[in-house]
Amino acid sequence: MPKQRTFSIIKPDATARSITGKINSKFEEQGLRVVAQKRLRMSRLQAREFYIIHKDRPFYEELVEYMVSGPVVVQVLEGENAVAKNREIMGATDPAKADAGTIRREFGENIERNSVHGSDSPENAEAEIRFFFSGTEIVG
Ligand code: GDP
Repeated sequence: MPKQRTFSIIKPDATARSITGKINSKFEEQGLRVVAQKRLRMSRLQAREFYIIHKDRPFYEELVEYMVSGPVVVQVLEGENAVAKNREIMGATDPAKADAGTIRREFGENIERNSVHGSDSPENAEAEIRFFFSGTEIVG
């Protein structure tokens, strides 16, 4: 199977607890390479645009405030079947329902502060990567 890329965010609850290394270990141990990464503080405008598909959900405003509440690490992960693989490594949205050994089960605090974002389709992965990275920032 050819290599695929996906987009990932290590969220503010995780940067606050200095567990970005532990999270990256989960990716690397399970076959996903971190081929681009940068730590930044999202603007409110960026967070609103990034999560625009959730604009009608009751938690949208709260989610935006959370995502701008501290630094995040945006990443491009690469590997076989990377989109699905990353969703598997992350676990279910609600940490309480996530499988043992997943990032969200081990590190997530609650359904909102769940430590990581990962693209849910190859199409969204491409768009989300473009949202945060230029081609020259991805070095394989
Ligand atoms: P994901 O693809 O597993 O991240 O889940 P979704 O796309 O459904 O939701 C996006 C993000 O919104 C999640 O990762 C959570 O941070 C947050 N979120 C999802 N559901 C809820 C909820 O019921 N309440 C709150 N406060 N946040 C939520």
